[in-house]
Formats: sequence, structure tokens, C-alpha cells
Amino acid sequence: MIELLENYLGGQWHAGAGAGTVLTDPITAEALVRVSSDGLEIASGFDFARQHGGGALREMTFGARAELLAKIVGVLQANRDAYYEIALANSGTTKADSAVDIDGAIYTVGQYAKWGAALGDAHVLADGDAVPLGKDGVFRSQHVRTPTRGLALFINAFNFPSWGLWEKAAPALLAGVPVVVKPATSTAWLTQRMVQDVVAAGILPPGALNVVCGSARGLMDALEPFDVVSFTGSAETAAVIRGHEAVTMRSVRANIEADSLNSALLMPDATPGDASFEAFVKVLVQEMTVKSGQKCTAIRRAFVPQSLHGAVAEAVAARLERVAVGNPRNEAVRMGSLVSRAQYDAVQAGIAALTRECRPLVDRRGAALVDADPDISACLAPVLLGPLDPSNAELMHRMEVFGPVCTLLPYGRLGEAVTMIRRGEGSLVASVFGADPRSLADAALSIADVHGRVHVVSPEVAGTHTGHGNVMPQSQHGGPGRAGGGQELGGLRALDFYLRRTAIQAAAPVITTLLPTG
Ligand code: NAP
Repeated sequence: MIELLENYLGGQWHAGAGAGTVLTDPITAEALVRVSSDGLEIASGFDFARQHGGGALREMTFGARAELLAKIVGVLQANRDAYYEIALANSGTTKADSAVDIDGAIYTVGQYAKWGAALGDAHVLADGDAVPLGKDGVFRSQHVRTPTRGLALFINAFNFPSWGLWEKAAPALLAGVPVVVKPATSTAWLTQRMVQDVVAAGILPPGALNVVCGSARGLMDALEPFDVVSFTGSAETAAVIRGHEAVTMRSVRANIEADSLNSALLMPDATPGDASFEAFVKVLVQEMTVKSGQKCTAIRRAFVPQSLHGAVAEAVAARLERVAVGNPRNEAVRMGSLVSRAQYDAVQAGIAALTRECRPLVDRRGAALVDADPDISACLAPVLLGPLDPSNAELMHRMEVFGPVCTLLPYGRLGEAVTMIRRGEGSLVASVFGADPRSLADAALSIADVHGRVHVVSPEVAGTHTGHGNVMPQSQHGGPGRAGGGQELGGLRALDFYLRRTAIQAAAPVITTLLPTG
């Protein structure tokens, strides 16, 4: 019988009931492990997390919790090789792609450890300065932020089993809030293994970090008013979370990261082969191929001046031709597989839908896979599409195809490109490539309100920028509108979700007492 991964809740490991769900290798279809959350005592497990995990975390200062994060970094680093093995087997990713997930997570936790250390021995954070209310100035209003006394439930997507956990858990734990993570079933193994390693290391108080693998059934029902839920996944499931009575009736705070039609814009002053053109093409190919395009931030719509449309398509085609697709166990392979055959079918259906209004500019699907059976594996080569009629194209601005697929759109005037970018109705990220600081700044601001992040690449940063799709903990992640309206990361701003803001109205000495370090 295949190993059943256990769940950690209520300070103990529990095997779920029944046969569970089998996780597979997306290249070979080999069965790997099983997961099940059936029969778990969720309500009492959540209580344990709030009381014991949360209670112990709140006793500590921000600085002490930052030390816990630093220790977690040590555990994750020590077990890094095992994580790469699991990612290869369960996600079918190349080493470079796994690094985005695994090393990206370790870096993020490390950053929060550093930022938290700077908060020192505080239990309470000041929010602004005290302002006088009474005539003599003694009676004042001081806003403070303290950890919510609930738990943080993370319901995560399949594409980042490592980073998806830690980019949320680092600010939550630093804020003093216990975590329950429910990874997407298809790639739950890596998340479960990381939690197992951190629990085994005895770094965190019991109940501070929990994992439930398998069905999400009952998790939302068990949430109470001071809990928070952070969801990453499809717009359809996001609607279920938003409409759950934990959110609608019990005011559980919800952060939603949903699908997103991210853009890249090549400015009108670019010319074939110049620095902006080259940087644009390089990033576009990266975004189509890294993790086989299964990144929430991947470029789905690329906008170029009409006169450069052919040249960009050719340059992208030339680069994509060199990308070997297949089994990452073969060192020649640059792009691994999609996460599952189901995802493969969904992406193929998405391409078919888009081709009702597009024609293929580059379609590598006919090329031979390396060491992978096209009838079994979830490997799918990249496809670049061009609209038949840009002014009447509709679906590409509405439908996210979560794979190595992008649409290259020509524009006449820059204003037309801005209008089309805005038709995405809110995205995580857009990048802008050009050379003139004034027009780059204007373009960035013209789309800032519909994006969580605008990434501007000019020649002076072409070699050093962090990448369109790479989410750095220093910058906000999340976007308005269709992207879910969520906000994560962005340094210590991320703590806001886990802290409650209260106005304390009191005499100056009381305020000085409650904020001794402020
Ligand atoms: P999904 O099918 O919506 O699943 C997301 C999570 O929700 C999984 O853990 C899933 O569990 C769980 N879930 C499913 N039904 C649920 C329900 N009724 N109640 C509570 N939880 C439920 O999404 P996905 O296919 O894993 O992820 C792909 C999508 O995520 C893409 O659209 C992508 O754009 C988006 N994404 C967004 C971001 C971002 O930061 N904005 C990041 C990554 C991915 P099971 O796996 O057990 O079904």
C-alpha cells in the first residue's frame, strides 16, 4: 500500500480515514503517496491552535518570534535536497523551477526573520503617533496593532506548495498568529514534508503550525470571528470562500489571490534588437516556460507596437525553439511538465478556446518530448498566439489559460495598449519595457490602479531586475478586481492582515506605558 501522509492538528499527527487520494508523478503517472483529511477533529484542532499555538506565540515579542523564523530557515535549508526530490517527483519541475518555489520560500522566511528582528522586544506595534483629543493635550488617541487571537487558515493552490505556504506563514507567525495550511491536494506532499520537518525540529510551540492534506471539507465551517483565511486558487473557488458564512456572517477576514491576466508592454520607442526589445523577449520566454507557465504572475498578454509584432514573434520563436520540453531527470530538459494530466487537458481546452479569436504564431506542441511519453505525461510545449482582429478580441482579456501560453497583441497608439491592458479588470502584475524615464513613469501610472505591482524595465536595470513574475517579499503581491483584491508581502505591511488595529484613548502616561519602546 502506498504511504499515507499524516495531518498535523491538535498537537498530534493523525492519519486520515479511508483510501484517500493518490498523488502522482506527472511525467510517469507513477503513484507516489496518499492523502486524506477524512475523520479529522477539525473544531477541536482549531481550538488547540488558537489556545496553545496562538497563546504561546503571543507571549513572545516580535523579536523572539523573528528568531523562530530564523530557526525555520535553518531547518528548511538542511532538508533542501529532499524538497527538490519531492518537487521533481510530484510537480515535474526542473531544478531551476523548483528553486523558485523552494529557495524563494527560504529567502522569504529569512527576510521576515530580519524585518522582525528590527521590531525588537515589542508586543504591541504603534500605528502612527498619539494625537491630542482633550483641550490640555493630556487625553490622547493612539492607534495600536495587536495580534488577532484567532488562527490563520491558508487554502493554497497547486503551483507553489512551498512558497505558497511560507510567504503566508512567515508574516503570520511573526505577527503571533498560529497557522493551519491546507495545500492543494495534487502537490500536497512538499507542504506536508516541510511542516513535518519544522514540527520535528521542535522550534515552534505546539499548535503554531498545522497541516491538513486532502479535502477542505469542514475547514471553513470551523472558523470563528477572529480567525483569518487566506485563499490562493481559482476564481470559482474564491467565490465559494467569499460566500461562506464564516466570511459573510462571522466577519472572518479573507484575503483572496485568484486568477490574473498579467501583461507586458513594449513601449513605442523600442526598435528591433535594442535593449528594451531584447529584455522584453527574454522575459516573455521566461514567463512562458518557467514552471510551464503555471505561475499566477506569468505574462498572459504581451503588447507590442504594430510595427514590431512580426519581429517580436520571430525572436520569441527562435528562443522557444531552444527550449527542450520533457522529463527534468534528463539534464537537457529546460521545461518540465504541467502538474497533472487534468491540468494538461484544461490547458489544451484553453488553447482551443483562444484559437477561436487567435492564430498560432509559435506552436511547439508538435516537437518531440525528451524522455516523456506524450500519451501519459503532462508535458505541454509553449504556444504563442496572435489575435485575428485585436479590436474584436474578447476571450484573451477574460480567460486565464494556466500553462505555457501567451497572446501577443499589436497596438497602434500607446493609449490603445493601455485600454487593452485595463480590460484584464485587475491583475497581479504588469511589466513595462522602454528607455525614456518620463514615458515609462507615465505608462506605469496609467495602469497602476489596476495592478498590485508594476515592474518597469529600462536599460539600466535590464541585467539586474528581479524578473516580471518573481514575487519578492519586499514588494506587494496581490491585485485588485479579477486578481482577487488580496494583498500579501510588501515587507512588514503583510502583518496588517494578522494584526487588529485599535484606537486607545487614554491619558499620555497610559499610552507611554502600553508602548514602552515607541
Ligand atoms: P483551485 O482548484 O481553486 O484550488 C485551490 C485550493 O482550494 C486547493 O487547495 C483546493 O483543494 C481548495 N478548494 C477546492 N474547493 C474548495 C472548497 N469548496 N472550499 C475550500 N477549498 C476548496 O485552484 P488551483 O487549480 O489549485 O490553482 C490554480 C489557480 O490558482 C489559477 O487560477 C491561478 O491563477 C491561481 N493562483 C493564483 C495565485 C495568486 O497569488 N494570485 C497564485 C497561484 C495560483 P483541492 O486541491 O483539494 O481541490
